[in-house]
Amino acid sequence: MAKIEVVNVTKRFGKFTALKNINLEIKDNEFFVLFGPAGAGKTTLLNNVAGIQIPEEGLIRFNGEIMNRIDPAHRNVAMVFENYALYPNLTVYENIASPLRSPLYKKDNATINREVHRVAELLRIDHLLERLPSQISNGQKQRVAIGRALVRDPNVFLMDEPLAHLDAKLRHYMRSELKEMQSSFNTTCIYVTHDFLEAVSLGDRIAIINEGSIIQVGTREEVYYTPCNEFVAALVGEPEINLVDGRLFVDNGKYYVETLEKGYLLPLPESSGIVRKLVDSEVTEYHIGFRPNNIKYTFEKKDGLIRGTVYGFESIGNKAVLIAKVGEKYIRMIAPNDLKVKLDQAVYVELPIHKAIFFDAQTTNFIGTSDEAAIYRLVQEQLSKGVQ
Ligand code: ATP
Repeated sequence: MAKIEVVNVTKRFGKFTALKNINLEIKDNEFFVLFGPAGAGKTTLLNNVAGIQIPEEGLIRFNGEIMNRIDPAHRNVAMVFENYALYPNLTVYENIASPLRSPLYKKDNATINREVHRVAELLRIDHLLERLPSQISNGQKQRVAIGRALVRDPNVFLMDEPLAHLDAKLRHYMRSELKEMQSSFNTTCIYVTHDFLEAVSLGDRIAIINEGSIIQVGTREEVYYTPCNEFVAALVGEPEINLVDGRLFVDNGKYYVETLEKGYLLPLPESSGIVRKLVDSEVTEYHIGFRPNNIKYTFEKKDGLIRGTVYGFESIGNKAVLIAKVGEKYIRMIAPNDLKVKLDQAVYVELPIHKAIFFDAQTTNFIGTSDEAAIYRLVQEQLSKGVQ
């Protein structure tokens, strides 16, 4: 168990800067997710925490102790990779026991036996201990790899896309399993993923990283409801958030946003405080974010709804994405899989202005949200953290 601090860390490969002045504080026992697109710097950051690479600038601290000059073997860090690399000729038992037999950790047989059974029970693979890797499934192999990492009670548990190459069904299953097990790990975990669902379902907190910089750190609620910019808004959420142009419109003391078409006005919910935020920001051109799951639609003409045409319909598992073309804009919405639609048919779209996220169109930075329920939830979350 350890509190991990990454302080002003910069990592270069020749002229290329892979990590740019990274600062993070990961709490003792926290399940911390590093989430970002390919090439963002996630693995490089893990390697620097593990000691496989040394930063050119900055410090890595475990429980306040500077680790930069401590070699990987003495950091007591365990890593699990996408490729679980088990010893093919050793049983599951021996694979899990292998770190405890290494010269560094050398433990007696009774301790090894106790520890192997402890992690095997935790990972629900205790019935497989006598099998060889070739005799177990991929999901079970990944659990053996996790067991081998956990068995020596590491200070820090680093997982680099451990589920990435499992098939979709198994990944889904392992994700919920990991979630259930994580409270028993009793270790600080840093988990790397580029999968939104893994990030939000596993992370106590999530750091969003892009091009070597940390863009935002927050709980899943914070990054989903109050993304610090459009990049985060687009990354967190599936299907991707809709972003439409808008501007403030005032009539008779009432505030509206005009969006999609000239004269299409949506009244801003005053009680959410969004009017004040927009006015105070002095920004006049917005990008307004609407999550696909919040948008309603109908195929019958209805006052106040904006008309579009069906542009696409695509199943994504147990639901579908309906895409409407409204003017020049494509709006993604969630629909049931069995919806009967024809391309180009008229569809009337209701943009949920009480669940909108506003960004500065120029900088793409967050201005505010009109989602009162989300604001309330975030305040409750802050209060409960304060009470702890
Ligand atoms: P992915 O999800 O694709 O694994 P990532 O976020 O883990 O990506 P990194 O592997 O950390 O990204 O790589 C970050 C950047 O640093 C990439 O542009 C990569 O090409 C570069 N990089 C990583 N390791 C090296 C290296 N040893 N030498 C040169 N460049 C490297």
